[in-house]
Amino acid sequence: WKNAPPNLRAITLLGRTHGDRVFTIYQDERVTFDAWFRAVATLAHELQARGVKKGDRVAIAMRNLPEWPVAFFAAITIGAICVPLNAWWTGDELAFGLANSGTKALICDEERWERVLPHRASCPDLNTAFVCRGTEHLEGAIALEDVIGTPPDYAELPARELPEVEIGPEDDATIFYTSGTTGKPKGALGTHRNLCTNIFSSAFNAACAFMRRGEPLPDPKQKVGLTVIPLFHVTACSAGLMGNVAAGNTMIFMHKWDPVEAFQIIEREKVNSTGGVPTIAWQLIEHPERKNYDLSSIEAIGYGGAPSAPELVRKIREEFGALPSNGWGMTETMATVTGHSSEDYLNRPDSCGPPVAVADIKIMSEDGTRELTNGEIGELWARGPMVVKGYWNNPEATAETFINGWVRTGDLARIDEEGFCYIADRAKDMIIRGGENIYSSEVENALYDHPAVTDAALVGLPHKQLGEEPAAVVHLAPGTTATEGELQAWVGARLARFKVPVRIAFSKDTLPRNANGKILKKDLAGFF
Ligand code: ATP
Ligand code: MG
Repeated sequence: WKNAPPNLRAITLLGRTHGDRVFTIYQDERVTFDAWFRAVATLAHELQARGVKKGDRVAIAMRNLPEWPVAFFAAITIGAICVPLNAWWTGDELAFGLANSGTKALICDEERWERVLPHRASCPDLNTAFVCRGTEHLEGAIALEDVIGTPPDYAELPARELPEVEIGPEDDATIFYTSGTTGKPKGALGTHRNLCTNIFSSAFNAACAFMRRGEPLPDPKQKVGLTVIPLFHVTACSAGLMGNVAAGNTMIFMHKWDPVEAFQIIEREKVNSTGGVPTIAWQLIEHPERKNYDLSSIEAIGYGGAPSAPELVRKIREEFGALPSNGWGMTETMATVTGHSSEDYLNRPDSCGPPVAVADIKIMSEDGTRELTNGEIGELWARGPMVVKGYWNNPEATAETFINGWVRTGDLARIDEEGFCYIADRAKDMIIRGGENIYSSEVENALYDHPAVTDAALVGLPHKQLGEEPAAVVHLAPGTTATEGELQAWVGARLARFKVPVRIAFSKDTLPRNANGKILKKDLAGFF
């Protein structure tokens, strides 16, 4: 414990103390904490030997594989800045991330390496690449298994200490790219303190929730979580991976998301928690095969990252008997700023909760000059030890977004008298119809209330006099029907006339989403 937390080197050493507990499960590969630590230390020395120094960027580009947390902690414990790249990105996009971050070393799977290869010339700083899960197309890269073996061999690696590197809480730790929902992804530069904050604030918040309900704290036995969202997003990394290393929990990774395979894993491994994003929770609940599996080990289903239907909360409680929770956060806040669970959530299913203990939130007028304190909708601003310093290599966007320790979130929200926050829309998605504001979530939630609707998105259609008009795209549950007129009448019975979508299109598939479960509204134009 050379450096006290919060720094990721201390968290890595804490992870080692969990010894023979199973840390990751991927297909038939089980890696204990001890074995993981051996691989981390070995790779950390190798990176150093290849010239990676404190502050250098080391990128990761792979699926959720057991190699991911090895690569991440190896980079971060030698003081390098880890750059988790979106594994869904094309070769062009991966090259953008590598070039934008000035990455020196890349650790990736063969699938991603093949995508990067044609673009190597546009990544001038990249001089070392380690490739796993395939060695046919190395083309100048090093096979990761030649350095650390494959996950089943990690236990046989020699036990080594981490390289000696001084790391403080304010040192840079990560560059996570934003999802690119509203524009080109921006790299959020986070410190060790930013990344550790979630571990402390979520543990504290969970303890407070139990105390408020007058229940004893649960037995701190090892928990098993099914990780179905990608580790390259802050939610899975900061709110998931970090806490699990600290607490000694097991993480199960899937090759790709598949609800039936998830049911099989939950039954076989007695999984306690899963979720991640609302759409995953929906798919678990609605799937007709759910009833064929014993899912009674599930205690909690949590999600965030995207708007969710209020109906989901009750379903999780009633149909799964699990504790629902919702968290609001963004890449710029390294995950959770507000958190919401159990009774509080059931009573206010349209809220994303109050701020976690270490965060402040406020609502500001859209020009950023005036605080709105009477429950009005305005832009949400957040402050606290989770808010990153700024964007990598992007001083203009940093100056616009980070103001005196606060981050302007770009989300429109209100806060009620008790401090619960309600997200109304993204400022960029709000529809103004002849001067009247229409917030997506209100109309989408009214649509979700309809028993046939399982997916809904509100978009604006241009209109000569009014500027914009609301229109919706919905997906109906298999075997159900509803007409455009019926859904318009349904919304009209619940909301003011001007908010009723002038057109409702039906998508036979679920709506297009990015890797983090957010509906890609810009891809819905083809429906109208
Ligand atoms: P970009 O900033 O590149 O356009 P993005 O904002 O989608 O992409 P992220 O940082 O992954 O990138 O997402 C943060 C956003 O996700 C928030 O600003 C908010 O709009 C949405 N969000 C996060 N959590 C919730 C939640 N619990 N409820 C509703 N929306 C949420
Ligand atoms: Mg954003």
